[in-house]
Amino acid sequence: MAIKIHAIKCGNVSYVGSKTKYGVYCYLVEHPEHGLILIDTGLNADAKDTWPKYLLAMEHVEITKEETALYKLGKMGISADDIDLLLLTHLDADSNGAIGDFAGRVKRIILPEHEYFYSCRTVYKMRQPQNLWLQYKNLMDIPYYEAVKIGPQGRGYDVFKDESIVFIHTPGHTEGHASVMIGTAGSGRLLNNDGIYFGGRYVMFSADGEFKPMTFDKKGQAKAEKYFDDVRKDPDCLMIYPSHSADDLCGYMEII
Ligand SMILES: [Zn+2]
Repeated sequence: MAIKIHAIKCGNVSYVGSKTKYGVYCYLVEHPEHGLILIDTGLNADAKDTWPKYLLAMEHVEITKEETALYKLGKMGISADDIDLLLLTHLDADSNGAIGDFAGRVKRIILPEHEYFYSCRTVYKMRQPQNLWLQYKNLMDIPYYEAVKIGPQGRGYDVFKDESIVFIHTPGHTEGHASVMIGTAGSGRLLNNDGIYFGGRYVMFSADGEFKPMTFDKKGQAKAEKYFDDVRKDPDCLMIYPSHSADDLCGYMEII
């Protein structure tokens, strides 16, 4: 049976200095062996009331209750209780403001320890307000990255120990940032990558790219971009999905 990937659009954001609106995407993976896997949770419906004012001033948010991941999954007949696993690629408020809609209901949540460490202890807490996620810490598995065969750092976390779903450490956008490889070489694969691509599916590789993701780590970012460019050229790579895009990504694809 095929793996199905659903792109779920959860509202829009726009950034100071850019007129472009970027959709915020999270992903639902229907996996024949591992069940329903949600990758990130998107914007929270009450973002305007719960985000700090300085963040809302930098990142303008458009989200309604009907645009949240929870609501859209509900329209697909899926409740939070049906989700077997929630993977958090990083803790930025736009990508994961809605953890509270799922925490305590999904069967398991995984957050990379590296992301947790930096979010708690450094400037990242400005982008990742703790009122949106820290209270759910005890409901999360927080594993260390280990050595894996793929990724710009050779570090990651093989979720099921069968290489079917692998968190890849892709520092750049945040220090602990993870991308997710789904499927394995030879059977089709897809990288869901948050924060590296903005403004269009492949804007980072086109001459007219207008907006680069925010990063404090330019060296890490450059290394991650090189890696994604290599993956993009790999004939086994079916698709690279961004989490912010001005293109319409709604719908689903299958990995055979
Ligand atoms: Zn982000």
